[in-house]
Amino acid sequence: MNAGAYGGEIKDVIVGVKTDKQYYENEECDFGYRNSKFSNSKECILKGYFQLQKGDKSIIQMKMDDLLQKRMDKQPLDKYSAGSTFKRGTDFYASQLISDCELKGYRVNDASVSTKHAGFLINDGNASYTEFMQLIEDVQRIVYDKTNKKLECEVKIIK
Ligand SMILES: Cc1cc2nc3c(=O)[nH]c(=O)nc-3n(C[C@H](O)[C@H](O)[C@H](O)COP(=O)(O)OP(=O)(O)OC[C@H]3O[C@@H](n4cnc5c(N)ncnc54)[C@H](O)[C@@H]3O)c2cc1C
Repeated sequence: MNAGAYGGEIKDVIVGVKTDKQYYENEECDFGYRNSKFSNSKECILKGYFQLQKGDKSIIQMKMDDLLQKRMDKQPLDKYSAGSTFKRGTDFYASQLISDCELKGYRVNDASVSTKHAGFLINDGNASYTEFMQLIEDVQRIVYDKTNKKLECEVKIIK
């Protein structure tokens, strides 16, 4: 799904992908925002070939530490979540919209919007599939009613 963060994406460093069917060059993988040709295919990825840039070890380490610290400061990494629940829109950040709609802390029983980062939906203990789906739908509806923007799920829903 072409994971990415802080300005970098997998598509920037992957040279090619080998599946059970064939080998694909980077350009043939149709990488997009949280998407690739493998997102909806039945092919099984067996190998990824990566090309990294050479650099100064201490500078790389500093950058890694800095990004990790940013994550720890802003994201509820101590709680159970599937990461960012909604995709960024063309003209908005989902978490900003949810926060602007004052939905931080909004909950359906044990499923709640993180009070630390509104893009994360948290399982506070015993949240069920039904409660998470209710929470997702509530957030989408309230945000749409208030802002006219549609939030699309980044997480995959498996029924
Ligand atoms: C706390 C947290 C923070 C996150 N932050 C970010 C972020 O900043 N940026 C971002 O982009 N994402 C982020 N994510 C999402 C993260 O990138 C995905 O959860 C991760 O890529 C899923 O990979 P997995 O192997 O763990 O999951 P899996 O569930 O094993 O796989 C995910 C999907 O890939 C398929 N798949 C798995 N293996 C193969 C294979 N060999 N061949 C073909 N298909 C396969 C599965 O069928 C499934 O559809 C975050 C997630 C969490 C929990």
